[in-house]
Amino acid sequence: MPLYESPAVVLRSMKLGDTDKIITFFTLYYGKLKAVAKGTTKPKSRFAGRVEPFVYCNMIAFGKEKADLLRLNSCDIIEPFGLVRGDFEKLKHAFVSAELVDICQKERDTNMEGFELLLAMWRRLSVEGDARKQDLLLRLFELKYMSTIGFHPFLKSCVDCGGDIIGPKAGFNAIKGGVVCHKCITSDPAASRVFVGSVKLMGKSLEMPFEKLDRLKADPGLQGDIDKIVAGFVKYHIRRNMRSERFLAL
Ligand SMILES: [Zn+2]
Repeated sequence: MPLYESPAVVLRSMKLGDTDKIITFFTLYYGKLKAVAKGTTKPKSRFAGRVEPFVYCNMIAFGKEKADLLRLNSCDIIEPFGLVRGDFEKLKHAFVSAELVDICQKERDTNMEGFELLLAMWRRLSVEGDARKQDLLLRLFELKYMSTIGFHPFLKSCVDCGGDIIGPKAGFNAIKGGVVCHKCITSDPAASRVFVGSVKLMGKSLEMPFEKLDRLKADPGLQGDIDKIVAGFVKYHIRRNMRSERFLAL
C-alpha cells in the first residue's frame, strides 16, 4: 500500500467510535488528506496531543491510492502552536483560517503556497497580542489564500469601465471580484462603497510576503472596509457561510 509522508498541519479532528479520530490534514506534498488515528483517546496513545487542530507535524499514513480515508501511522510534532490553542482570541482566528482551507482545498490537490501561507498566519497569530491586528491579519490571509486557489481580486482599475481608481471613495463588487471607480459606483447597485485606501492596502498585501504584513497599518475606517470586502468576497466564492465566522463576534 502506498505510503504518504509529508509535513502537514491539522485542520480538524473528529471522534470516530469510542477511541479513534478522523484527522483532516493539510499536507505540503499531497494537499488535503483524511486519516484515521486509531486508539487516540486511550490514555497511553502514541497520538496523544499530536493530532489536535493547528499542530504542525510530519505525518506518515498508509492507504490505497484513491482511498478517501488513510490510516495514520505516525505524527511527529514540528510546531505545536500551543500559544494559538491557549488563547481564545487567537483560537477563533485560527479556526476561521482552518475552516476556510478545509472548505476550499479539494482532497489530494496540492497547494504549497497556501500551505506556507497558513503556517505563516498561525506563526504570526502566535505572537500577535492585539485583537484588532489579528482581525486584519485574518482578512489579509483570506484574501491571499483565495488568490492561491485562483480567486484573485481585481484591484488595479475599475471592473466596469477599466478606468483609474481615484479617491477618496470607490466601490467593491464581490460578484465581479473587483474594485469599481467613483463614476461607475452610482450605476452598480451590487458594489459596496469603500475608501480607496482600503483597496490600495489590500492590493499591497497581495504583493507582500505574509511575514511582512504586520507593517501595514489600517485605521478603523479602512479596517471596517477590509473586513466587509473580504468577508463578502470569500462568501460569494465559497457559496456558503463559514460556521467559525460567528466566533469572531464573541
Ligand atoms: Zn468605472
